[in-house]
Amino acid sequence: MNDRRSISPLQMRGLLHRQKNICPICGQVINLARGDKVHVDHVIPLALGGADTWDNMTATHDHCHVEVKTPLDRKDIARAKRLAKKMAEHAERMAAKGQPITEAKPRRKIASRALPGGRGDTLKKKLTGQTERRGP
Ligand SMILES: [Zn+2]
Repeated sequence: MNDRRSISPLQMRGLLHRQKNICPICGQVINLARGDKVHVDHVIPLALGGADTWDNMTATHDHCHVEVKTPLDRKDIARAKRLAKKMAEHAERMAAKGQPITEAKPRRKIASRALPGGRGDTLKKKLTGQTERRGP
């Protein structure tokens, strides 16, 4: 993960300005004058295909980033890796059997049925508890 750019102090100020100096993780003000340390967070982690771009960056407190966001990201990254491994193993098994890897069949659409008492239902239940027929 060495493809991340470092951002300049000016860009950092731009980030902070965009988010009105609010840390998106804890909702508290990031106050550089008070000595708060800032980390740049990639909203969608780079390891999960997030872009190293302005749109995918937020400024956070260093402690919020390290203690809150990074552990969550690690979980997501680990989950994505497990899934990728499973898919690769599956592809290998299918190849060993000489079967082409086919795309999953689209799931059968669940018959849409009006929820009882919902907008699509022919009966409507009033707040008084009475039921009446809907429509003309
Ligand atoms: Zn924070």
